[in-house]
This record gives sequence, C-alpha cells and structure tokens, in this order.
Amino acid sequence: MHRRRFLGLLAGSTGALVLGACSDGSSGSSTTSTTAAVPPAEGIDADPFALGVASGDPDPRSVVLWTRLVVDPLADDGWGGIGEVDHAVRWEVATDEGFDDVVASGLEPAPAELGHSVHVTVDGLAAGTGYWYRFQIGEFTSPVGRTRTAPADDDAVDQLTLAFASCQLRTAGAWSAYPHLVDDEPDLVLFLGDYVYEYPGGEGETAVPLDDEPQTLADYRLLYGAYKRDAGLQAAHAVAPWVVTWDDHEVENNYAAGVPEDDDDAPGFDERRRAAYQAFWEHHPLRIDPPADDGSLQVHRSLRWGTLAEVFVLDGRQFRSDQVCGDQVATNRRECPEIDDEDRTMLGAEQEAWLDEGLTGSDATWKVLAQQTVMKALVLGDIVLNVDQWDGYPAARARLLRTIEQEGVDNVVVLTGDIHAAGAADLRSPDANADGPVVAAELVGTSISSPGFGSLVDGLDLSPLGLAYANFADHGYARCTVTPETWRCEFVVVDDLTDGAAASVDATVEIAAGTPGVRRV
Ligand code: FE
Ligand code: CA
Repeated sequence: MHRRRFLGLLAGSTGALVLGACSDGSSGSSTTSTTAAVPPAEGIDADPFALGVASGDPDPRSVVLWTRLVVDPLADDGWGGIGEVDHAVRWEVATDEGFDDVVASGLEPAPAELGHSVHVTVDGLAAGTGYWYRFQIGEFTSPVGRTRTAPADDDAVDQLTLAFASCQLRTAGAWSAYPHLVDDEPDLVLFLGDYVYEYPGGEGETAVPLDDEPQTLADYRLLYGAYKRDAGLQAAHAVAPWVVTWDDHEVENNYAAGVPEDDDDAPGFDERRRAAYQAFWEHHPLRIDPPADDGSLQVHRSLRWGTLAEVFVLDGRQFRSDQVCGDQVATNRRECPEIDDEDRTMLGAEQEAWLDEGLTGSDATWKVLAQQTVMKALVLGDIVLNVDQWDGYPAARARLLRTIEQEGVDNVVVLTGDIHAAGAADLRSPDANADGPVVAAELVGTSISSPGFGSLVDGLDLSPLGLAYANFADHGYARCTVTPETWRCEFVVVDDLTDGAAASVDATVEIAAGTPGVRRV
C-alpha cells in the first residue's frame, strides 16, 4: 500500500485541503501543522468512531495512533456502514487532556482499501512522556486516548509498569478484567494472542453474528467489529499503548503456517489466512507494514524501554512446522518419534536468527519474550499434554534455551498466553523441564474470558512439573512492576465474567535480577 497515492486521492476528494509538511520529507510521519482543516465526513451520518481509538509500539520519539472509521460494527459488507469510499481524518497529540497544548497534528488517509483504518506514526515526540490524542472527521470527534513514548535508549529508568493479557473469547461473557486494568494505568499493555476467535454465536452485546466461521475480509472485519465495539476493551486501549502479537484464533484454531486445523479446509485456506492477516493489521496500532503481496505479515519486532527492558515480540504461528501426530491433546511421545525431529521449527529460521542476535546483543537489564504458547515442559511421563505449544517443538526450544545458557544471556522473562490458565515456572536448559540449569523464567497469564482447560488436568498430579504457581480456573490478567532489581508480577483474577465483577490478586511472584528463577512471595 502506497501512502503517497492516498495523499493524492485525499487532496482530490476534499478539494482545498491543506496538508502539513512532513518535517523529514517522507510520507507517513507526523506534521507540526495545527491549521489543517478537518476533512469532511461526506456520507457519514453517525459517529464513525464506534471502535474507539488505540495506540501502540512506542519508541523514544514516536508512537503509532490507530482508529478505524466504522459506523456499524456489525455491517456484513466489510465497509462498517460507510461504504466503499476513501476518507481522511485529522489527528492531534497534546500534552494535556483538554488539548490546549497540541504538539503535533496532521491529516491521515482512511482508505477504503484498508477498511478505513488509520495508522499514524507520530514522530518528533519527547522520550518517556505521556500524551493525549484524538481524531476528527466532519463534526465527529473520537474518544480521547492516552499514550506514552518509550524512554531514551540510554535512560536508566527506575520502573516500568506493564499488564499482559490474552484470549478473549467474546461469546464467553463480559470482559470484567478490563476495568481493573484501566484502573492500574500501566505504562504499557502486552497482548499475547487470541484477540478474536473465529467462532460465531452469542447474543446481545456479546453476539458474533456470522453464519459460519469467517472466510473473507468482510467476515473478519465484522468479527473485529463485534469484538472491538466493547466499551471496556476500548477503554483499555485508550489508557496506554499496546504491543500486540497474535496466536492461532486470529485466523483459526491451531493452524500452522499455511496448514489449516483440518486437512479438509486446505482448499481456500491461503485466501482465508490472507484475509485474516489483513484484518489483524487493519485493527491494531502496529508499527509494521500491511501484509505483503504474498499475504505474509511481519509481526515479530522488538521494543526497548530505556536500559531497563527490551521486549522481543514473537510470531509463533506464521512460520511454524505443522503440529505432529494429528495435533492431539495428551500425545504419547513413544508413539510419535517425529516430535523430536531436529528441523521442526516454531519461529522459522529467519526469526530464530533474529531472536538469537537480539538476545545475545541486548544490553538491557531484562530481556522479555512476548509470545503465544507455553514454553515450560508440560510432560507427565511419556504424555505430552499439548503438542501445539513448545512441547511439540522440543528441538526448537532447546536451540533457544541453549543459546541463552551458552551465551550467558541473563534476566530472560518469557511472557505467554494461549492456555487459559495462569502460571509461573523456571525454564531449565535445554528441555524446560525439571533438569538442567535455570536460564529463564516463564510467566503465563490466564485468559480474559476464554474457558479454561481445568478438566484436562483434573486429577493429574502436576507436582513433577515443578511449577511455582498454577491456576487453571480463573480469568484475569497479569500486572507487573519492573525495576532494575526485581520483576514482580501480580496475577489478577476476576470473580466471574459479569459486568462490574470484583478482582483480586491470586498470587504474586518475583524474579530477582541476576538470580535465575521465579518464586512466589
Ligand atoms: Fe486462547
Ligand atoms: Ca491459542
């Protein structure tokens, strides 16, 4: 997608519209013009900010602002109730909530071809600073969002507060965790996958009114509309910048690279995945290009928070080997020798090399992996509980953990979603099981709403796994406070999935910098 083309379209459709000059002469970054007229909302007769606003992927001088023009989140034609017409919006960034001190503003296309999504990379901001932002089109003004730039790379920041969350099956109930996350006002939110699920159903405010699982771009846009119309989710996006990765359900359950869950679904899966990736890009404030011509999308990227932390955002879906042995739960590894094939990959060769280089080269205190599936070995005897997670890719896991061990990469914290349970465990090289030196810690956040797998482990003796903490029952998120000395995490759980449900801290864990291992406190 070429933004210059849309600047042309935009000038053509709005007449004498003044575009602010980009300070560096390139397209797509901020302007400092505060005089640009608000583009007209031609043909839009109701609030087009029905999906709210968001920001994400901050660096020390810029942040990505997002919105998507939608009047009707449940429109089934892919156009959100505003038709296949190009639009544009005005955006503003201010140092105050009342927008008296606007420090950057400009115009940005909202082209039909990208679902009227808007991604603005606002450049020239101050490092380690909080801002407010909003969008305008015609007489409509968006909700106000708060965001924050990262500290300067050499800034010895003394604290980062972050929340991480995953797995929000819409039809499971109210997302009662989000108001509590909003109250926390974290610096950063990491979302670790399963932001949408491909399943239709439900009713009322939690309905996903698709006839069947989504296949087309219009279907996936409706899916995101059904999810993102939630006021609590919108408030959580508006409180802090998010850093988002995906897992499987953004396309479909347990797909692996180009292979769908069921072999029968192979015809057309390419097109389905392409539509899902496009919709993912359209609905998040990602500092990455839209999908390439071949439909691929580079989601893995890194982000730095001064000298305190470097976050490596991983993509464990797009490049992975297909799951072994029919992708069954409770696979007997004696009956599935291919599980140990050396060439099985979770990240793909290129991402694996990028991660190795990033981890070994990082001088940040904490090296964080923001990723999808459980890395800790959940293997009882010969039984591998779930071959969709890293347990189905033991050679790839060993390569990663050995690199951490042999290169002496310290203070590695793996943050994980996927499993709809909370937990904390040491990761020992090379198999992430009970033997070997501790080289990293893993913190697993429970689901926002997706049902747990408690029945799968009911009655099993999990003590051989050596988990520091596990909760297979509750929903919620994790709230972490990171300092140069300590990584401290509270596992927040909600009473139930109803509006206004109370929250409490189920467990607190700590990792001491320089001392591998996580412990309950
Ligand atoms: Fe999930
Ligand atoms: Ca998943």
